[in-house]
Amino acid sequence: MAGRSQFGLSALERRALLKGSLGAAAFAGMQSYASAAKIAEVTAPPPMPLPGRKVALVPLRVTPDQLIDVKCCIRPFRAAGPNLGTQMIGDTLVVHNYGHGGSGWSLSWGSADVALGKALSVLPKEIAVVGCGIVGLTTAVLAQQYGLKVTIYARDMIQRTRSFRASGSFTPSSRVALTEPAGPEFGDLWERMARFSWKAFRTCIGLPGNPVEFQDNYGLSDTPPQRRVREPNPAITDSYATRGIPFQETEFAHLDDRIKDIVPQSSLLPPEENPFNAAYASRTSHMYFNFASYGHMLLTEFFGRGGQFVMRDFHGPADYAKLKEKVVINCTGYAARDLWQDKTIIPVRGQTGWLVPQPDSHYAVRYKNVMLMSKADGVCVMNNNSIPEDLGDMFGVGNSMELPNPADIQAGLKLIAPVFAPPVGGA
Ligand SMILES: Cc1cc2nc3c(=O)[nH]c(=O)nc-3n(C[C@H](O)[C@H](O)[C@H](O)COP(=O)(O)OP(=O)(O)OC[C@H]3O[C@@H](n4cnc5c(N)ncnc54)[C@H](O)[C@@H]3O)c2cc1C
Repeated sequence: MAGRSQFGLSALERRALLKGSLGAAAFAGMQSYASAAKIAEVTAPPPMPLPGRKVALVPLRVTPDQLIDVKCCIRPFRAAGPNLGTQMIGDTLVVHNYGHGGSGWSLSWGSADVALGKALSVLPKEIAVVGCGIVGLTTAVLAQQYGLKVTIYARDMIQRTRSFRASGSFTPSSRVALTEPAGPEFGDLWERMARFSWKAFRTCIGLPGNPVEFQDNYGLSDTPPQRRVREPNPAITDSYATRGIPFQETEFAHLDDRIKDIVPQSSLLPPEENPFNAAYASRTSHMYFNFASYGHMLLTEFFGRGGQFVMRDFHGPADYAKLKEKVVINCTGYAARDLWQDKTIIPVRGQTGWLVPQPDSHYAVRYKNVMLMSKADGVCVMNNNSIPEDLGDMFGVGNSMELPNPADIQAGLKLIAPVFAPPVGGA
């Protein structure tokens, strides 16, 4: 990060742009858009169409004193993808709906639709849903929309579940399956769930409290951005097939291209649109969820439609058969590993830090593997750095330690802070 960037922006210009106060005339002496675009040409998709358009962003405050919370959570990952199978426990039909890895929020509606399709096959008038995380609560509401009477049984309501410790954006293929064990049919099932969910979330845009929103998401780098190429490392001979756990990122199913016709894609910004103190910025729009208002919205609909919530702890499958409802959808997330003895669930640890809400800085930023996402209930921070190498999807795999580690979040804030500062030697 030099005093004057390679695109000719001085420290003063960059800082003014970050504050949104620089007039068009101040850019007259800058290197032409055309020459900057040549760099973009070889490294990334063409830049956005409105050359010279300035972006006015309020810098995010990322000093350590802004950190007000750190949460840790386990992603319920299954190599074969979510369990949507059925099983009879006595005279009770149990339809499973758990094991969504890093995609539980994103796939919640589509997965609920698949599970309910199986439940509706025996024409029940009422059903039970066990679990009130994002998957259980969404399943319950969708079941009501399909005309069923629903009771949720769970030991926690959504605000106290692991779901509320996620980061919460639309990431439907994040750690959702491994390619080989999931098999070739999984892509179609995943696409159906992802498209169904996307449409359902779209109906929440613009509702009071903004339960679901879009925002700009900037990817920053000091070197020209490259599309991540995933090649298997031949030196790693272990795999899920040999050890029951993935050993490299290439084992994961990456399915996002199947829905790129509906999900906005990233474009490299021309330098005059880059308000950050980093040489390269790309931008996309991403959909995300405001947990408090989204949870409130679902609970309001659930109770408004006459739903019942019963706080109950289940100790094993036999407890399901004791319920009065003879069709039960099991949405217990990572807890199914013990409750249903499903040892195919692999823990994938993740943690989020939360800065005070900063509504004037309504965007997300990613730099050096640190992510910031400004949401209504705070700025979510994730630090996915790993030494000596970037582990990508392997980060947290096999780790079930659920205690937060604030030092890691503080380290992430330190790494990303320079992008909001004037360049070294600047005014
Ligand atoms: C750091 C991090 C970031 C993430 N970010 C995203 C993201 O951006 N987008 C996304 O889509 N996903 C994300 N995820 C993944 C997502 O959080 C999970 O897939 C999702 O929370 C799983 O939800 P669930 O409802 O299945 O489980 P849970 O939230 O764990 O809910 C389980 C429910 O079952 C109940 N229960 C469990 N055991 C029992 C029992 N014995 N008796 C009675 N009740 C029981 C619990 O009380 C709870 O109500 C993230 C995960 C992590 C860790």
